[in-house]
Amino acid sequence: MSTQSQKSALVVSAHPGDFVWRTGGAIALHVKRGYRVKVVCLSYGARGESQGAWKQPGATLEAVKRQRHEETVRVAELLGAEIEFFDTEDYPLDLNRAMLDRLVDIYRDVQPDFVLTHPSADPYNYDHPDAGRFAQQARIIAQAAGHNPGAKTLGAPPVFLFEPHQPEQCDFKPNVILNIDEVWDIKRQAFEFLPAQRHLWDYYTRVALQRGAQGGRNSGRSATYGTAQGMTYGEAYQRVFPMVLEELA
Ligand SMILES: [Zn+2]
Repeated sequence: MSTQSQKSALVVSAHPGDFVWRTGGAIALHVKRGYRVKVVCLSYGARGESQGAWKQPGATLEAVKRQRHEETVRVAELLGAEIEFFDTEDYPLDLNRAMLDRLVDIYRDVQPDFVLTHPSADPYNYDHPDAGRFAQQARIIAQAAGHNPGAKTLGAPPVFLFEPHQPEQCDFKPNVILNIDEVWDIKRQAFEFLPAQRHLWDYYTRVALQRGAQGGRNSGRSATYGTAQGMTYGEAYQRVFPMVLEELA
C-alpha cells in the first residue's frame, strides 16, 4: 500500500514487451526517485507477440505463457516495479466487465500521480488501442463517486500515451520527451530479459537515441554523445489532457 507521502504511477500494458520498449525508462527513473510504480500487464502476448518463443520445438500456448510470465516477472523486478497480470487472451484481447472493475480497484488502491498507457489508434495491432481505451475508461470510473460508494475515489492523474511501434500510422504526436540517460543501462538490460522478442532490441535502442537527440534539441541540451551535460536517450509521450500550471515558465 502507498503511504500518503509516497508518489505513485500506474502503467497499463497490453502485452509484456510494451511496457519495456515504450516506457521502461520512465518506470526505472521514477522508481529511482522513490515512486511506487505498478504495472498491469493485461495479457502474456502469447499468441501475437512471442514470435521467438514459438520457434522452440513443441511450443504450446501454456508453455509460451509460462515463459512470458517468468521473463516478465524478472523484467519488472529489474525495473523496480510491482506487476499484476490479468492473463486475458491476446490477439484479440478478451477484456470483460470483471477485469474493468478490477482495474478500477487498482486505480483506487495505487492513487497514481500519473498514468502511462497505449495511444488510441494502431492499425497494426488492435490490442494496443483496446488496452489504452480500457485503461482510460477504468480511470474515469475510478473517479466516479457512484461506483462502490464510500470507497476513496481517484483525482485527475495526467495520462501519458507511450510511443507505438510506428508512430506516424498511429496519429502519435509526442509533446513530452523524458530524459532517460540515468536509467538507460537498466532499460537496455531489460530488453535482454525478453528473448522471445529479440528482433526488437536494436530497434528500440535506435528509438531511444532518436528521441534523445530530439530531447536535446528541444531543451538546449544537445551535446556530445555520452557527456554529462548532454542528453542521449529519451522516451516520447503524448499527453491526453491539458497541463494545468500556476505559471508558464
Ligand atoms: Zn504489444
